Amino acid sequence: MIAQRIGSRVAGHQHLDGPLRDNLNPSDIGDIVCQVSQADQSLAREAVQSAAQAFDTWSRTTPWQRFEILDRAGGMIIDRADELGDLLAREEGKTFVEARGEVIRAGQIFKYFAGQALQPSGYLVDSIRPGIEVQVAFEPVGVVAVITPWNFPIAIPAWKIAPALAYGNCVVFKPAELVPACAWALVEILHEAGLPDGVLNLVLGRGSEVGAAILGHKAIGAVTFTGSVATGELIKSLAGSHGAKLQLELGGKNPLVVLDDADVTVAVESAVQGGWGSTGQRCTASSFLVVQSGIHDEFIEALEARRRSLRVGDARNVDTEMGPVVDAGQLSTNQEYLDVARDQGGTVVGGDRLTGSSDGFFMSPALVLGTSVGDRINQEEVFGPVMSVIRVNTYEEALQAANSSTMNLSAGIVTQNLARANDFRRRSRAGMVMVNLPTAGVDFHVPFGGRGESSEGPREQGPAAREFFTTSKTSYVFPG
Ligand code: ADP
Repeated sequence: MIAQRIGSRVAGHQHLDGPLRDNLNPSDIGDIVCQVSQADQSLAREAVQSAAQAFDTWSRTTPWQRFEILDRAGGMIIDRADELGDLLAREEGKTFVEARGEVIRAGQIFKYFAGQALQPSGYLVDSIRPGIEVQVAFEPVGVVAVITPWNFPIAIPAWKIAPALAYGNCVVFKPAELVPACAWALVEILHEAGLPDGVLNLVLGRGSEVGAAILGHKAIGAVTFTGSVATGELIKSLAGSHGAKLQLELGGKNPLVVLDDADVTVAVESAVQGGWGSTGQRCTASSFLVVQSGIHDEFIEALEARRRSLRVGDARNVDTEMGPVVDAGQLSTNQEYLDVARDQGGTVVGGDRLTGSSDGFFMSPALVLGTSVGDRINQEEVFGPVMSVIRVNTYEEALQAANSSTMNLSAGIVTQNLARANDFRRRSRAGMVMVNLPTAGVDFHVPFGGRGESSEGPREQGPAAREFFTTSKTSYVFPG
């Protein structure tokens, strides 16, 4: 389904005349997924203008028209889950099972927000002055810039684009450079589902090249961004300069606490899924394990056995349990973090660079034992298949270690003690808390987001999304 050469889609036209960039398969860099025509600043500005022009008509479509297009797109995505899952696994490197699951979730997100378009909103109240009525309406913001990372190439764009469109906004979509094919396929499907030209414009190009042209444009009313802290800061200054609304999701440093009374099997599976699932490349990944001393050795032994048996390989091979790292840069970042951890006194198990039958960015999952709360490996987001371990004596120590993070997105606890689980749920500083579950793996019909340096602006997903993608208008009416 993916064309050999793809390009930006602005006002319904595909632009294939820019310099070409090869889009590589991280499981096998000899496999070129497609070639991507790179947008320049003038095309990026055109994309914003196109969205601004389409806004008047799109914002006045009926909720039913928006429902039908989004619902149809959701159905088409789900129907094509095998094909899109294969494309995602090939382009980003998560396993086919994970990729297919992500695609289905994206389809469900479109269907969910299709339904949200039909939900009543706004209210009417009597004024405190006699005879006057006050109406509060929620209107679309205008043109929304959607800037997304590579780690969930279909689900993250879905959970930003679907609510933007459902609430009547137009969109300029700038996906990460590493995953243009998934973005392109998603945009094609939305148009096949009946989305009018100009409502959703796709800009394929380098963030540093096209970012300022999009975000600095005064027609941008809101920016929703998921990515690194450094880029988030830049985006804030670019978009904030003309008063655009901001929604920033900047990742997490997520603890998984394992208490003495935990079921060891649940603890091991939660750690494996949360820490090494999707090659650890999730903002909700369990990146540090806080383990109570009574269960420490038994848990680590079981986790290490699971680590050794985890099958790392080509993401599209059905037997693979962990795919490659996304690119050479991320692979060397992961290796550097392991070196830093060793220098700070940690013992690294695994984490070796692997060479397989294909030339890809493979490493074995890693555990770093014997670390302390203040070590860099426990403070910074690695974004790779690396879990560090902190040993603690008491529950209070565990809670303190878990709350030491400044990027409080998700936090988990494994325990059979309901009182402890409830206490953790209440006292955790994270935006999301998981009990006897991996820190990663969230639903789309409830709010998603973190605290501290992890998130800024209104929450994503669920009914909470309305706060960001609409703006209220209060009208006072005296019938005369
Ligand atoms: P990651 O490498 O984890 O994807 P980044 O923060 O580097 O995190 O990138 C996230 C998104 O931000 C990508 O789509 C990227 O192209 C985009 N981006 C990078 N630099 C800029 C910029 N100066 N302006 C706008 N977007 C940018």
